[in-house]
Amino acid sequence: MVRRIFSILLFSVFVLGISSDANAQKKAPKRSFVKVTGDIYRYQNNFHFGMAVETKDGVVVTDPINSDMVKWLRAEIKKRFNKPVTHAIYSHSHGDHNTGGEEWGKGVEVIAQEGVRAQVLAGKARTGWPTTTFKDELIFRIGGKTFELKYLGIGHGTDLIATVVRPENVAFIVDLASKNRLPFRNFPRTDIDGLIKQIKTAEALKFKTLIPGHGGVGNHGHLKTFRVYIETLRSRVAAGLKAGKSAGDLVKSVTMSEYKNWDGYKFFRATNVKGMAAWLQKKGSM
Ligand SMILES: [Zn+2]
Repeated sequence: MVRRIFSILLFSVFVLGISSDANAQKKAPKRSFVKVTGDIYRYQNNFHFGMAVETKDGVVVTDPINSDMVKWLRAEIKKRFNKPVTHAIYSHSHGDHNTGGEEWGKGVEVIAQEGVRAQVLAGKARTGWPTTTFKDELIFRIGGKTFELKYLGIGHGTDLIATVVRPENVAFIVDLASKNRLPFRNFPRTDIDGLIKQIKTAEALKFKTLIPGHGGVGNHGHLKTFRVYIETLRSRVAAGLKAGKSAGDLVKSVTMSEYKNWDGYKFFRATNVKGMAAWLQKKGSM
């Protein structure tokens, strides 16, 4: 009997031990650091991605995502390259991509569009303070790489930029377009016609590989396919509203079925329709 109780106790400890491990695993963010091409890498924290570039004179990073991620990145970069981080380039001021940048410390030059400073001053963004800002374009060179930063205008947020790295011809652009993936939910914090214009501005840039802030690595052509999805959705929802249909009716009728193989079709299609309808109605132009 005593032995039986003992084995039950052991069994419970074993099972409890396993389940608490499983809980810990559940909470730990999914992180990775993977080569894309040449000296360009992509880092991941759950559903958010950033770009890191190894140069002869140090490593250039982009969005910090959050302060824990910066600590993890610092160790990862030291282990892989044993070079200092020289620059951090912020894609835009939204907190899910850009919180905790101050964790990089004083030696790192932080570059962002000038609107990011305005957002921080207005208390609307909690990014680290950018040490260098620009209005429309900024080009800099370090350790054999050229970084071309381009402001994309107002659409998704007010301070979104594209970062193109040469000679690899890779662009890092966040929350603008994804590779064969529906836009996130109801177009939060987005002026949709502005977003279409932002995508066109990005389409005018010359590059080959597209590293987005969410979803898989794509190419230049994915900007256009994503823009065509938004334009198609816009025209179908606008036509429905003009015909007197409600947003509820449109969720049923605007199926966008030619995109059913895209990521997020099941989760975001209905909210895309609702978000588009609400935006068109608010704007008053259908
Ligand atoms: Zn954003």
